[in-house]
Amino acid sequence: MAAIPFLDLRAGYLALQDDIDAAVARVVNSGWYIMGPEVEIFEAAFAAFCGASHCAGVANGLDALVLSLRALGVGPGQEVIVPSNTFIATWLAVSAVGATPIPIEPDAQTYNMDPALLESAITPRTRAVIAVHLYGQPADLDPILAVTRARNLFLIEDAAQAHGATYKDIRVGAHGDAVCWSFYPGKNLGAMGDAGAVTTNNTDLAEHISTLRNYGSRVKYVNEEQGTNSRLDPIQAAVLGVKLTHLDEWTQARRTIARRYSDGLAGVTTPHVPNWANPAWHLYVVRHPRRDTLMQVLADEGIGTMIHYPIPPHLQVAYAKCGYTKGMFPLAETFADDMLSLPIGPQMSHADQDRVIEAVNRIAPKL
Ligand SMILES: *Cc1c(COP(=O)(O)O)cnc(C)c1O
Repeated sequence: MAAIPFLDLRAGYLALQDDIDAAVARVVNSGWYIMGPEVEIFEAAFAAFCGASHCAGVANGLDALVLSLRALGVGPGQEVIVPSNTFIATWLAVSAVGATPIPIEPDAQTYNMDPALLESAITPRTRAVIAVHLYGQPADLDPILAVTRARNLFLIEDAAQAHGATYKDIRVGAHGDAVCWSFYPGKNLGAMGDAGAVTTNNTDLAEHISTLRNYGSRVKYVNEEQGTNSRLDPIQAAVLGVKLTHLDEWTQARRTIARRYSDGLAGVTTPHVPNWANPAWHLYVVRHPRRDTLMQVLADEGIGTMIHYPIPPHLQVAYAKCGYTKGMFPLAETFADDMLSLPIGPQMSHADQDRVIEAVNRIAPKL
């Protein structure tokens, strides 16, 4: 039997090959290789998709976070509250602007930010909160916004995994002050290289980020501030524009797989979805006390899985100087030890889904 890869990126290309080839050829033939109409067209389309008034395309998801923090004036001496369990980019963005990431533990059921823990993490130095829609499941935005508004803090959403997810029937994309997206190839809306964006309803903020990404310049060779080069590549914008028209259909396919997994799996803890959440299912993450063995036995049967994430940010060497020790964020540490991401993707066949369910149900309960 053919192996089931954790993720088949080529399948996403083959499904739209003619349209993607034509879009790439169009940009190549246009002779316009930096910014320009392709970027503007995609920005408008993605803003509309997200229900946001503005979208600023940038070079990647990390830069989307960094430039949002910079544009909001977050910097040295200030603190930003972040999840203890997230991809390290969420923390790195805070560190990159010279501020300090202040981790809080997630809700044990949803794995997302626990609004009840926010208040106690706020100090006079706190400027912002970054909520992550982890694995594509929206964070509980209303109670988080209640705290950030009452305490005059910015809310930044790390939506790198949540393209198309809805919170109380409203699409993620404009709840917070800035919503940050990654179009890394493996994301639900993935480019063929690095790409990212920020969506927002704040016109000034959108303009500020658009200026920062382009050397702090709005008019060529007139530099208003010390910006950077973090522009969305027009070839990537053209590819993303093609894929965006299929995103709803692909999200539906992910939701169908997630439902089949949740209905069919035994012997593992499946994701808990609150009734106000309609996740985008970037990842389908189960938990098992003998995760490493489960992963190995599945691999022996040709089923690819991954761990998101094996080392929480506070235990990474990158943050060793901050003095964190094991046991400080027990939920993040437990998740790193027992979580396993099963294969999921819009092109995954029904038969492959069945094989994953059958294998997990045969192996997991006996471990
Ligand atoms: C992928 C990801 C990022 C970073 O995006 P890049 O485009 O790789 O820079 C940030 N946060 C989360 C939660 C992610 O999954």
